Amino acid sequence: MTSAAETYDLIVIGGGSSGENVADRAVQGGLTAVIIESELVGGDCSYWACMPSKALIRAGTALDAARRVGGAAEAVTGELDARAAFARRDRVTHNWSDESQVRWLDSAEIALVRGHARITGVREVTVTADDGATTVLTATHAVAVCSGSAALLPDIPGLADVDPWSSREATSATEVPTSLAIIGGGTVGAEMATAYAALGTTVTLVVRGTLLGKLEPFAGELVTDALRAAGATVLTGVSATELARNADGDVELSLDDGSTVTASQVLVATGRIPRTQDLGLGVVGMSDGDWLTVDDTMLVRGDSPVLEGEWLYATGDVNNRALLTHQGKYQARAAGDVIAARANGKPVDDEPWGTHVATADHAAVPQVTFTDPEVASVGLTAEAAEKAGYRIRVLDYDLSWLGGATVLADDYTGQARAIVDEDRQVLLGVTFVGQDVGELLHSATIAVVGEVPLARLWHAVPSYPTLSEVWLRFLEAYGRPSI
Ligand SMILES: Cc1cc2nc3c(=O)[nH]c(=O)nc-3n(C[C@H](O)[C@H](O)[C@H](O)COP(=O)(O)OP(=O)(O)OC[C@H]3O[C@@H](n4cnc5c(N)ncnc54)[C@H](O)[C@@H]3O)c2cc1C
Repeated sequence: MTSAAETYDLIVIGGGSSGENVADRAVQGGLTAVIIESELVGGDCSYWACMPSKALIRAGTALDAARRVGGAAEAVTGELDARAAFARRDRVTHNWSDESQVRWLDSAEIALVRGHARITGVREVTVTADDGATTVLTATHAVAVCSGSAALLPDIPGLADVDPWSSREATSATEVPTSLAIIGGGTVGAEMATAYAALGTTVTLVVRGTLLGKLEPFAGELVTDALRAAGATVLTGVSATELARNADGDVELSLDDGSTVTASQVLVATGRIPRTQDLGLGVVGMSDGDWLTVDDTMLVRGDSPVLEGEWLYATGDVNNRALLTHQGKYQARAAGDVIAARANGKPVDDEPWGTHVATADHAAVPQVTFTDPEVASVGLTAEAAEKAGYRIRVLDYDLSWLGGATVLADDYTGQARAIVDEDRQVLLGVTFVGQDVGELLHSATIAVVGEVPLARLWHAVPSYPTLSEVWLRFLEAYGRPSI
């Protein structure tokens, strides 16, 4: 639907996963809403992040899963077909067409204006279309900034000149590079190393600290082992200091330990910056390029008096709370509902865990890292829990000892950890590493968010033989608490 009106109850800047959800909830709450999108409706997740990356990774993990099962392994007589994997990725991204998402906007009665949005006044946004035409939109109630994030290009001499890949090029590539150096050992670096190693690329990961260093240490260790077993080189504790293309066109990376890495392509995966350049943030007393700080109802916080009147919100990556699609959508549901409630003069439930707040951002952010083995984590690590002052007990379990693991794969490798708050006998965090553990994660999220007492968890009986039996093992290791 193309917009004709110029006044809406809610203006949403950015039609990614979080923007779509803010608009949808507000419309369901009785408001009118418009989304302004400068690229593709659906945003990064659909076209250059979650979906294409997982589609690429899946080809390799499916093959490896079959190779781990006697009987099935004998049927795997060929190698991964990179061209077919790219073709499947193209189907998953709808060939970078947002037609179906635009149809959904239409069905959800959300207007769409294509172009670049800038805040030009209180509740006022000016859109510049590709042909230079401008439209001034006015919001009766609120403006939500949902403009996402972009890859950070660190200030390493020579980096910009070698024309590096960011996650966008890595997820939309159509050829398998002969060799790929990846700078950065976070989720994107580890996942892309997994994907490209399986596609046949010679991968070298250059990691400043340790791989997946924000997670429980055993996660990075097991993924490092697996990547090395898959033929990748994982260099930890080193940084790239300079890059240049040599006479053959390959990239040479100088590292701070004096060594060099040569690769046909380099991928930079060193973090994200907010997409707030050229957004008009000066109007609200901030600077373009800033992250937007929000309260738990997603209202933008700042010193400028123009922010008074509860009209400027920010959800998704741009508020830097938890840069994950599902958390951005969760924030968006809270924001869309609270915008509608405030507009309709209805009560706002902004107590922790209330209807109109995104409390889980602070306590229970689930994340699956789609490496092979997968890493699934929620809540606090042992180190973070200790730092936060909790009196904790750590429960560790080797997942390969489970009947479910024996059935799933020959030589299953996996590890699990639960962090118990000893004072309340509830879980603060859980981490699983192993094949197919991603689907286990929501059980842990429910236990952490629900603060389910361990005494009650004894009555949640896991089915045999599944990986879920890890819950029973955690409880047996802890000992039966009394209520
Ligand atoms: C390689 C990779 C893999 C990932 N995998 C996962 C995963 O498996 N699971 C997961 O949960 N998360 C994953 N993420 C993170 C996830 O992609 C982001 O958290 C999510 O896309 C953020 O959604 P958003 O709506 O905040 O922003 P976006 O999806 O980036 O949407 C923002 C939209 O705003 C538009 N826009 C920006 N500025 C303007 C403007 N001024 N005017 C008009 N439009 C504008 C943009 O064009 C864009 O479409 C991954 C990220 C990367 C990089």
